[in-house]
Amino acid sequence: MCTYVPHVPYVVYLKEVNGVKNGVCHKKFITDNNKYIRVIRHYNIPIFIPERACPFQCIYCNQQKITGQDTTIDYNDIVETINSYLLSIPEENSEIQIAFFGGTFTAMPINEQIEFLKLTQAYIKSGKIKGIRISTRPDNIDQNILNILKKYGVSHIELGAQSLDNDVLLKSHRGHDYNAVKNASKLILQNKFTLGLQMMLGLPGDSLDIAKETAKKIIDIGAHETRIYPTLVIKDTSLHTLFNRGNYSALTTSEAIIQSAEIYKIFEKGNVKVLRIGLYPDDNLIENEVVAGPDMYNFKEKVMTEVWRQQLENLIDKTSLEKSIKIYVSPKQLNFAIGYQASNRKFLFDSFKRVKFYSNSKINNLEYHVDYY
Ligand code: SF4
Repeated sequence: MCTYVPHVPYVVYLKEVNGVKNGVCHKKFITDNNKYIRVIRHYNIPIFIPERACPFQCIYCNQQKITGQDTTIDYNDIVETINSYLLSIPEENSEIQIAFFGGTFTAMPINEQIEFLKLTQAYIKSGKIKGIRISTRPDNIDQNILNILKKYGVSHIELGAQSLDNDVLLKSHRGHDYNAVKNASKLILQNKFTLGLQMMLGLPGDSLDIAKETAKKIIDIGAHETRIYPTLVIKDTSLHTLFNRGNYSALTTSEAIIQSAEIYKIFEKGNVKVLRIGLYPDDNLIENEVVAGPDMYNFKEKVMTEVWRQQLENLIDKTSLEKSIKIYVSPKQLNFAIGYQASNRKFLFDSFKRVKFYSNSKINNLEYHVDYY
């Protein structure tokens, strides 16, 4: 999938400002030791280009159904979409990008790419938009295309890598191999774009071991960002046919959670920013289009709960029943550490007299500090 992210209004990241990294985000401000500190929020305005110019039909993809749009593009609609997003995003402390998702941006005729990019230029000149993000296939990147993207202000390029195992790529009808991803990535990095390599789990021929190798290769290639998407079987795709014939089994929800947690930990160690875990399809897609695959409801929360469960398990020893425990984690991780429906707190309660979680803005990411009392 070039980008498997329908109907996501904004993607928000907390950025470091004035050297302060942590804190609890309260819309525009974070608190740290009772002081208010300005933070910049990052917003993506998503424009979906459904299966425009896709040279292949990947086995799992029906991009029209993913985005809920047909393939006709109305440029006025795009401008209206951008304007309406801009009206709803606070101007102060915001950094806004336009993101062309879906389809294969750089496989469109050059003139058409330029038409899309031209729509954004007034916003870039006025300073309302800070950059453009596109998603595309690795076999549709060359120096000429990169020159054009740079000229029109594209800053981030996401490639649908999906797997870096040639057998999985072949079985998924991707139409390119690992070398195509490696070569395109090299060129993108040489041209100083921010590189994202998206990956999928549970594709035909895939396994946790193969997925781990893909994640390691994504790190070695030098990607800055990634997205982790478990495969869903969508109606009227070739994967659907395979599934109906009994030749494909989708990951169960718990398999997808465990695999995603393992892959997340690899990226975390490799300093690759994970922009998204799982698909957030609208209710209509879940009800009408997805015929099999892991449940995406609160998927990221469940994955991060698993990541934390594995860490917190290490705190339990034979003497722990006599102790109470205080666990300090970063504010952004607090809910994940406590767990989806407080499941991590509950499992620790079986081993400790009392369990308390606290946020501490001096702690980063998956680090934690423990006091026994
Ligand atoms: S390249 Fe494949 S995954 Fe991407 S939009 Fe086209 S068919 Fe879908």
